[in-house]
Amino acid sequence: MKISFHGADQGVTGSCHLLEALGQRILIDCGLFQGSRTLAADNADDFGFDPGQIDAVVLTHAHLDHCGRLPLLVKRGFRGRIHSTDATRDLAAIVLKDSAHLQGDEAERNHEEPLYTQEDAADALNLMRHPMHYGVPVDLAPGIRCTLYDAGHILGSASARFEVTEGSVTKSIVFSGDLGSRGRPLLHDPVAPPPADILVMECTYGDRLHRSLDDSVAELYAAINGALDRGGNAVIPTFALERAQEILYYLHAGCEDGHLPPSLQVFLDSPMAIAATELFRAHPEALSAEAAATFASGSDPLSVDGLAYTRDREASQKINRVHGGAVILAGSGMATGGRVTYHLMRELPRAESAVIFVGFAAVGTPARRIIDGAQIVRMHRESISVRASIHTINGFSAHADRNELLAWHAQLHPLRTFLVHGELTAMKAFAARLPPGQLDLPRFGDEYEL
Ligand code: ZN
Repeated sequence: MKISFHGADQGVTGSCHLLEALGQRILIDCGLFQGSRTLAADNADDFGFDPGQIDAVVLTHAHLDHCGRLPLLVKRGFRGRIHSTDATRDLAAIVLKDSAHLQGDEAERNHEEPLYTQEDAADALNLMRHPMHYGVPVDLAPGIRCTLYDAGHILGSASARFEVTEGSVTKSIVFSGDLGSRGRPLLHDPVAPPPADILVMECTYGDRLHRSLDDSVAELYAAINGALDRGGNAVIPTFALERAQEILYYLHAGCEDGHLPPSLQVFLDSPMAIAATELFRAHPEALSAEAAATFASGSDPLSVDGLAYTRDREASQKINRVHGGAVILAGSGMATGGRVTYHLMRELPRAESAVIFVGFAAVGTPARRIIDGAQIVRMHRESISVRASIHTINGFSAHADRNELLAWHAQLHPLRTFLVHGELTAMKAFAARLPPGQLDLPRFGDEYEL
């Protein structure tokens, strides 16, 4: 058995790991590198293996940094099966179509060939006809069995456990995928797979602890009410998958229990977030028992009375006329593009309004500059002054924090751990807290005989 690393090595994007056993070549995730121009350029590079020789892909979840190079894999000759949960497949359809669209725009701007097209994305989605269910083993090939466990990170997310049997010897290897935080309202808590010999584990937040969710929700309500009281609007730049739905859930709860005005006006100004929200209704099997029961009883925890979905551009532009009393959810989460940039251009200069960041903001993005206290930010070639009240709420993370990661690791007690999907500082801090055992921090292209 052999494993090699082709992304998210001492970094957080481009997840892609290759497991070779019994003559089979199985890829775990095939994500896009994101965050900087150098990383983006890495996407077009050689995978470090021949896509035509890959037998199957197991996809842990539908985030772009885990599925975003699948169309490229297909474009370069992959014709095998792609296994995932049903919810992951449906979310990936939204994510990959959007990604192909963005690749097209980017290529047009730079007068280059796109990384991949809508047709490539459709070809990849056509190979995703191999649904898996949590806890139900699937034989990928004779002697290679794979079982998915709910990772509690986003809808449909999974950790993958492989059992490779040769003669009388069985070796087990677990890929954590991205692990969620416990106690989140819409999803199950992460489920630890049975113990494994080898573990490939994410450690995004291996060096920090999250604030409590209750405090974060209280901060969210206070920030929104502050803006409403001043006669302004509250803009929440948000990721379309998961975070948008989680915020909708808390808005619903706040309107119900009196922490927010019962008729609060909310705009979900993101076609992708709207589509993802609809998938939550379609996949009760991937929801927490409580959320599934609420949907089953006919009530909708992702809605408020004053909620408007704005799908087309025209409806989105009408929000301009709303000068106060509204909450506007729009992407992108880091304000690097998308409809939220127009809302920010309008609301940032207004002292009565609030901008509330509820997710990760990478260095170099407008979100990061605003959070770090910039007085002026550039957007669409204009200088925008920042007078709105700025809030950064850190407790909504879709990722397990250090203690949650350590507890999860302890349940698997592996003989050997490979740390992936983390910045080097987080990785080293996390490594220092792991129990004794063989530990590796692989780099791109590294290969290990197991
Ligand atoms: Zn993820």
